[in-house]
Amino acid sequence: MSKIKLPSLASFQDRLKSLKEKNNLKQSSYTNLNFRLNKPEENGGIATAKVRFLPNPHNGFDPFVETWQHYSIGSFGTIPCAKQNFGESCALCDQVKEIYDYSNSLAVSLGINPKEYNDMTANAEIKGLFKKARDLKAKKRIYVTLIDRSHEQEGVKFWGINEKFFDGLLREITDTISEYPDKNPIDHLSGIDVKVTLTNNGSEYGTTSFSLLSAANPTKALPNKTDEEIEAFINGIVNIWGTICQKKSSEEIANIVEQLIGTDGLIDTSRASNNASQTPARAISPAAQAFVKATSPKQNVAQTTTVAVDEALNSIDIDQMSEEI
Ligand SMILES: [Zn+2]
Repeated sequence: MSKIKLPSLASFQDRLKSLKEKNNLKQSSYTNLNFRLNKPEENGGIATAKVRFLPNPHNGFDPFVETWQHYSIGSFGTIPCAKQNFGESCALCDQVKEIYDYSNSLAVSLGINPKEYNDMTANAEIKGLFKKARDLKAKKRIYVTLIDRSHEQEGVKFWGINEKFFDGLLREITDTISEYPDKNPIDHLSGIDVKVTLTNNGSEYGTTSFSLLSAANPTKALPNKTDEEIEAFINGIVNIWGTICQKKSSEEIANIVEQLIGTDGLIDTSRASNNASQTPARAISPAAQAFVKATSPKQNVAQTTTVAVDEALNSIDIDQMSEEI
Protein backbone atom coordinates (compact mmCIF):
# COMPACT_ATOMS: atom_id res chain seq x y z
CA MET A 1 0.00 0.00 0.00
CA SER A 2 3.00 2.25 0.28
CA LYS A 3 2.66 3.31 -3.36
CA ILE A 4 -0.56 5.15 -2.53
CA LYS A 5 0.11 8.82 -1.91
CA LEU A 6 -2.97 10.82 -1.03
CA PRO A 7 -3.48 14.39 -2.27
CA SER A 8 -2.47 17.06 0.24
CA LEU A 9 -4.76 19.41 2.13
CA ALA A 10 -3.32 22.29 0.11
CA SER A 11 -4.35 20.61 -3.12
CA PHE A 12 -7.94 20.37 -1.90
CA GLN A 13 -7.90 23.96 -0.70
CA ASP A 14 -6.67 25.10 -4.12
CA ARG A 15 -9.35 23.09 -5.78
CA LEU A 16 -12.03 24.54 -3.59
CA LYS A 17 -10.88 28.03 -4.48
CA SER A 18 -10.99 27.22 -8.16
CA LEU A 19 -14.59 25.99 -7.97
CA LYS A 20 -16.77 28.77 -9.20
CA GLU A 21 -19.71 29.79 -7.11
CA LYS A 22 -22.68 27.91 -8.44
CA ASN A 23 -25.52 29.38 -6.47
CA ASN A 24 -27.97 28.47 -9.16
CA LEU A 25 -27.29 24.77 -8.71
CA LYS A 26 -29.52 22.91 -6.36
CA GLN A 27 -27.59 20.92 -3.85
CA SER A 28 -30.37 18.38 -3.86
CA SER A 29 -29.64 17.45 -7.45
CA TYR A 30 -28.55 13.99 -6.77
CA THR A 31 -27.92 10.83 -8.57
CA ASN A 32 -25.87 7.77 -8.20
CA LEU A 33 -24.02 5.37 -10.36
CA ASN A 34 -23.81 2.06 -8.60
CA PHE A 35 -23.94 3.63 -5.15
CA ARG A 36 -27.62 4.01 -4.51
CA LEU A 37 -29.87 5.02 -1.68
CA ASN A 38 -33.51 4.24 -2.25
CA LYS A 39 -35.85 7.05 -1.49
CA PRO A 40 -38.12 6.14 1.45
CA GLU A 41 -41.76 5.87 0.46
CA GLU A 42 -43.12 8.03 3.24
CA ASN A 43 -42.77 11.76 3.06
CA GLY A 44 -40.28 12.73 5.76
CA GLY A 45 -38.70 9.28 5.74
CA ILE A 46 -34.93 9.00 5.58
CA ALA A 47 -32.46 6.45 4.26
CA THR A 48 -28.85 6.52 5.33
CA ALA A 49 -25.55 4.90 4.42
CA LYS A 50 -22.08 5.15 5.84
CA VAL A 51 -19.38 5.35 3.20
CA ARG A 52 -15.60 5.52 3.11
CA PHE A 53 -13.88 7.24 0.22
CA LEU A 54 -11.23 5.25 -1.56
CA PRO A 55 -8.16 6.58 -3.36
CA ASN A 56 -8.57 6.26 -7.11
CA PRO A 57 -5.38 5.10 -8.83
CA HIS A 58 -6.63 6.59 -12.13
CA ASN A 59 -6.85 10.04 -10.64
CA GLY A 60 -3.64 10.53 -8.66
CA PHE A 61 -5.26 8.60 -5.78
CA ASP A 62 -7.83 11.35 -5.44
CA PRO A 63 -11.34 9.93 -4.90
CA PHE A 64 -13.02 12.77 -6.78
CA VAL A 65 -12.92 12.65 -10.56
CA GLU A 66 -14.34 15.71 -12.29
CA THR A 67 -15.95 14.91 -15.62
CA TRP A 68 -18.26 16.53 -18.17
CA GLN A 69 -21.16 14.60 -19.63
CA HIS A 70 -23.86 15.12 -22.24
CA TYR A 71 -27.09 13.58 -20.97
CA SER A 72 -30.18 12.27 -22.77
CA ILE A 73 -28.58 11.90 -26.16
CA GLY A 74 -31.44 9.94 -27.70
CA SER A 75 -30.97 6.18 -27.50
CA PHE A 76 -27.26 6.69 -26.75
CA GLY A 77 -27.96 7.98 -23.26
CA THR A 78 -24.99 9.69 -21.63
CA ILE A 79 -21.92 10.63 -23.68
CA PRO A 80 -18.68 11.98 -22.15
CA CYS A 81 -17.89 15.35 -23.74
CA ALA A 82 -14.79 15.17 -25.94
CA LYS A 83 -14.21 18.92 -25.73
CA GLN A 84 -14.49 19.52 -21.99
CA ASN A 85 -12.87 16.27 -20.91
CA PHE A 86 -10.14 15.94 -23.50
CA GLY A 87 -9.89 19.28 -25.34
CA GLU A 88 -10.91 17.66 -28.61
CA SER A 89 -13.69 18.62 -30.98
CA CYS A 90 -17.16 17.52 -29.93
CA ALA A 91 -20.02 17.30 -32.42
CA LEU A 92 -22.54 17.45 -29.57
CA CYS A 93 -21.14 20.78 -28.37
CA ASP A 94 -21.35 21.97 -31.98
CA GLN A 95 -25.03 21.04 -32.06
CA VAL A 96 -25.68 22.87 -28.82
CA LYS A 97 -23.97 25.95 -30.22
CA GLU A 98 -26.06 25.81 -33.35
CA ILE A 99 -29.28 25.69 -31.35
CA TYR A 100 -28.10 28.61 -29.18
CA ASP A 101 -27.09 30.62 -32.22
CA TYR A 102 -30.43 29.98 -33.84
CA SER A 103 -32.31 31.02 -30.68
CA ASN A 104 -30.32 34.24 -30.63
CA SER A 105 -30.88 35.05 -34.27
CA LEU A 106 -34.56 34.27 -33.96
CA ALA A 107 -34.75 36.60 -30.96
CA VAL A 108 -33.08 39.41 -32.89
CA SER A 109 -35.47 38.94 -35.80
CA LEU A 110 -38.42 39.27 -33.41
CA GLY A 111 -37.01 42.36 -31.73
CA ILE A 112 -36.17 40.46 -28.56
CA ASN A 113 -32.95 41.23 -26.75
CA PRO A 114 -31.01 37.94 -26.64
CA LYS A 115 -29.03 39.21 -23.66
CA GLU A 116 -32.16 39.66 -21.58
CA TYR A 117 -33.09 36.36 -20.04
CA ASN A 118 -36.70 37.35 -19.41
CA ASP A 119 -37.12 38.61 -22.95
CA MET A 120 -35.72 35.38 -24.34
CA THR A 121 -37.98 33.19 -22.28
CA ALA A 122 -41.12 35.21 -23.01
CA ASN A 123 -41.31 33.62 -26.44
CA ALA A 124 -42.41 29.98 -26.37
CA GLU A 125 -40.34 28.80 -29.32
CA ILE A 126 -37.18 30.49 -28.15
CA LYS A 127 -37.75 29.31 -24.61
CA GLY A 128 -38.13 25.72 -25.84
CA LEU A 129 -34.97 25.88 -27.93
CA PHE A 130 -33.09 27.58 -25.15
CA LYS A 131 -34.08 24.83 -22.76
CA LYS A 132 -33.14 22.16 -25.27
CA ALA A 133 -29.69 23.65 -25.69
CA ARG A 134 -29.26 23.78 -21.92
CA ASP A 135 -30.42 20.19 -21.55
CA LEU A 136 -27.99 18.94 -24.17
CA LYS A 137 -25.06 21.02 -23.02
CA ALA A 138 -22.27 19.10 -21.28
CA LYS A 139 -22.66 19.19 -17.50
CA LYS A 140 -20.09 18.72 -14.83
CA ARG A 141 -20.31 15.58 -12.79
CA ILE A 142 -18.00 14.34 -10.09
CA TYR A 143 -17.52 10.61 -9.72
CA VAL A 144 -16.52 9.56 -6.22
CA THR A 145 -14.95 6.21 -5.47
CA LEU A 146 -16.12 4.68 -2.20
CA ILE A 147 -17.23 1.61 -0.34
CA ASP A 148 -20.54 1.33 1.41
CA ARG A 149 -19.64 0.22 4.92
CA SER A 150 -22.79 -1.87 5.26
CA HIS A 151 -22.17 -3.64 1.97
CA GLU A 152 -18.41 -3.92 1.79
CA GLN A 153 -18.64 -7.30 0.14
CA GLU A 154 -20.11 -5.57 -2.91
CA GLY A 155 -16.77 -3.92 -3.54
CA VAL A 156 -15.96 -0.47 -4.87
CA LYS A 157 -18.83 1.80 -5.82
CA PHE A 158 -19.11 5.04 -7.72
CA TRP A 159 -21.23 7.95 -6.66
CA GLY A 160 -22.13 10.75 -9.04
CA ILE A 161 -22.56 14.18 -7.45
CA ASN A 162 -22.95 17.65 -8.86
CA GLU A 163 -20.67 20.62 -8.41
CA LYS A 164 -22.68 22.23 -5.65
CA PHE A 165 -22.70 19.07 -3.60
CA PHE A 166 -18.98 18.59 -4.26
CA ASP A 167 -18.30 22.11 -3.12
CA GLY A 168 -19.98 21.41 0.23
CA LEU A 169 -18.18 18.12 0.61
CA LEU A 170 -14.78 19.64 -0.13
CA ARG A 171 -15.38 22.39 2.41
CA GLU A 172 -16.12 19.84 5.12
CA ILE A 173 -13.14 17.73 4.18
CA THR A 174 -10.69 20.64 4.20
CA ASP A 175 -12.09 21.90 7.50
CA THR A 176 -11.72 18.48 9.04
CA ILE A 177 -8.16 17.98 7.84
CA SER A 178 -7.25 21.46 9.07
CA GLU A 179 -8.52 20.61 12.53
CA TYR A 180 -7.43 16.98 12.65
CA PRO A 181 -4.42 16.62 10.33
CA ASP A 182 -4.14 12.92 11.08
CA LYS A 183 -7.80 12.27 10.26
CA ASN A 184 -7.91 12.95 6.58
CA PRO A 185 -11.43 11.80 5.58
CA ILE A 186 -10.14 10.58 2.27
CA ASP A 187 -7.53 8.38 3.89
CA HIS A 188 -9.02 4.93 3.63
CA LEU A 189 -6.78 3.63 6.42
CA SER A 190 -6.80 6.30 9.11
CA GLY A 191 -9.59 8.59 8.02
CA ILE A 192 -13.26 8.76 8.91
CA ASP A 193 -16.55 7.71 7.38
CA VAL A 194 -19.12 9.95 5.80
CA LYS A 195 -22.80 9.54 6.49
CA VAL A 196 -25.07 10.09 3.49
CA THR A 197 -28.75 10.77 4.07
CA LEU A 198 -31.54 10.75 1.53
CA THR A 199 -34.73 12.39 2.76
CA ASN A 200 -38.10 12.07 1.10
CA ASN A 201 -39.21 15.69 1.12
CA GLY A 202 -42.00 15.19 -1.36
CA SER A 203 -39.87 16.04 -4.38
CA GLU A 204 -39.18 13.54 -7.12
CA TYR A 205 -35.70 12.55 -6.03
CA GLY A 206 -35.70 13.69 -2.42
CA THR A 207 -32.86 15.62 -0.83
CA THR A 208 -29.43 14.22 -0.19
CA SER A 209 -27.15 15.51 2.51
CA PHE A 210 -23.95 14.31 4.12
CA SER A 211 -22.09 14.63 7.37
CA LEU A 212 -18.57 13.64 8.22
CA LEU A 213 -18.55 11.44 11.25
CA SER A 214 -16.70 12.87 14.19
CA ALA A 215 -12.99 13.06 13.51
CA ALA A 216 -12.40 13.18 17.27
CA ASN A 217 -13.90 9.74 17.58
CA PRO A 218 -13.49 8.13 14.19
CA THR A 219 -14.86 4.83 13.11
CA LYS A 220 -12.21 2.30 12.28
CA ALA A 221 -11.04 2.23 8.74
CA LEU A 222 -12.07 -0.91 7.00
CA PRO A 223 -12.15 -3.04 10.13
CA ASN A 224 -11.32 -6.69 9.81
CA LYS A 225 -9.71 -6.15 6.46
CA THR A 226 -6.27 -7.34 5.60
CA ASP A 227 -3.92 -5.29 3.45
CA GLU A 228 -4.63 -7.70 0.63
CA GLU A 229 -8.37 -7.15 0.93
CA ILE A 230 -7.95 -3.40 0.91
CA GLU A 231 -5.72 -3.69 -2.10
CA ALA A 232 -8.46 -5.74 -3.74
CA PHE A 233 -10.91 -2.87 -3.23
CA ILE A 234 -8.55 -0.47 -4.90
CA ASN A 235 -7.98 -2.92 -7.72
CA GLY A 236 -11.72 -3.13 -8.12
CA ILE A 237 -11.61 0.47 -9.27
CA VAL A 238 -9.34 -0.58 -12.10
CA ASN A 239 -11.83 -3.18 -13.20
CA ILE A 240 -14.85 -0.92 -13.51
CA TRP A 241 -13.09 2.30 -14.39
CA GLY A 242 -13.11 1.49 -18.08
CA THR A 243 -16.89 1.21 -18.06
CA ILE A 244 -17.45 4.47 -16.27
CA CYS A 245 -14.93 6.73 -17.90
CA GLN A 246 -14.77 5.18 -21.31
CA LYS A 247 -13.58 7.85 -23.66
CA LYS A 248 -15.50 8.47 -26.83
CA SER A 249 -13.39 9.98 -29.59
CA SER A 250 -14.44 13.01 -31.63
CA GLU A 251 -15.11 10.63 -34.54
CA GLU A 252 -17.32 8.37 -32.44
CA ILE A 253 -19.33 11.33 -31.19
CA ALA A 254 -19.63 12.73 -34.71
CA ASN A 255 -20.88 9.33 -35.76
CA ILE A 256 -23.51 9.34 -33.03
CA VAL A 257 -24.71 12.79 -34.09
CA GLU A 258 -24.86 11.62 -37.70
CA GLN A 259 -26.92 8.63 -36.75
CA LEU A 260 -29.30 10.80 -34.77
CA ILE A 261 -29.64 13.27 -37.55
CA GLY A 262 -29.89 10.63 -40.24
CA THR A 263 -27.96 12.67 -42.76
CA ASP A 264 -24.54 12.53 -44.30
CA GLY A 265 -22.02 14.87 -42.83
CA LEU A 266 -22.17 17.11 -39.82
CA ILE A 267 -23.51 20.55 -39.34
CA ASP A 268 -21.18 23.21 -40.56
CA THR A 269 -21.09 25.59 -37.64
CA SER A 270 -18.95 28.13 -39.47
CA ARG A 271 -21.78 28.47 -41.98
CA ALA A 272 -24.20 28.92 -39.13
CA SER A 273 -22.27 31.74 -37.47
CA ASN A 274 -21.58 33.48 -40.80
CA ASN A 275 -25.21 33.40 -41.71
CA ALA A 276 -26.26 34.58 -38.30
CA SER A 277 -24.56 37.90 -38.78
CA GLN A 278 -26.01 38.42 -42.25
CA THR A 279 -29.47 36.97 -41.89
CA PRO A 280 -30.68 37.26 -38.34
CA ALA A 281 -33.83 35.24 -38.93
CA ARG A 282 -32.07 32.37 -40.66
CA ALA A 283 -33.80 29.04 -40.35
CA ILE A 284 -32.36 26.39 -38.13
CA SER A 285 -30.65 23.82 -40.31
CA PRO A 286 -32.66 20.69 -41.10
CA ALA A 287 -29.88 18.71 -39.45
CA ALA A 288 -30.19 20.60 -36.18
CA GLN A 289 -33.96 20.29 -36.32
CA ALA A 290 -33.58 16.56 -36.80
CA PHE A 291 -31.15 16.50 -33.92
CA VAL A 292 -33.56 18.25 -31.59
CA LYS A 293 -36.21 15.74 -32.60
CA ALA A 294 -33.93 12.74 -32.28
CA THR A 295 -32.93 13.69 -28.78
CA SER A 296 -36.54 14.29 -27.73
CA PRO A 297 -38.06 10.82 -27.96
CA LYS A 298 -40.95 11.47 -25.63
CA GLN A 299 -41.38 15.19 -25.66
CA ASN A 300 -41.22 17.85 -28.25
CA VAL A 301 -40.08 21.40 -27.95
CA ALA A 302 -43.59 22.75 -27.58
CA GLN A 303 -44.24 20.57 -24.56
CA THR A 304 -41.00 21.40 -22.86
CA THR A 305 -41.88 25.07 -22.88
CA THR A 306 -44.40 24.41 -20.13
CA VAL A 307 -41.56 23.46 -17.80
CA ALA A 308 -40.28 26.29 -15.67
CA VAL A 309 -37.06 27.31 -17.33
CA ASP A 310 -35.22 27.95 -14.10
CA GLU A 311 -36.00 24.47 -12.96
CA ALA A 312 -34.99 22.97 -16.27
CA LEU A 313 -31.72 24.82 -16.37
CA ASN A 314 -30.76 23.64 -12.96
CA SER A 315 -31.83 20.06 -13.20
CA ILE A 316 -29.59 17.25 -14.21
CA ASP A 317 -30.97 14.25 -15.97
CA ILE A 318 -30.87 11.79 -13.19
CA ASP A 319 -32.50 8.77 -14.77
CA GLN A 320 -30.14 8.57 -17.67
CA MET A 321 -27.25 8.86 -15.31
CA SER A 322 -28.22 6.01 -13.06
CA GLU A 323 -29.03 3.78 -15.97
CA GLU A 324 -25.50 3.98 -17.14
CA ILE A 325 -24.30 1.00 -15.17
ZN1 LIG B 1 -19.26 18.13 -25.85
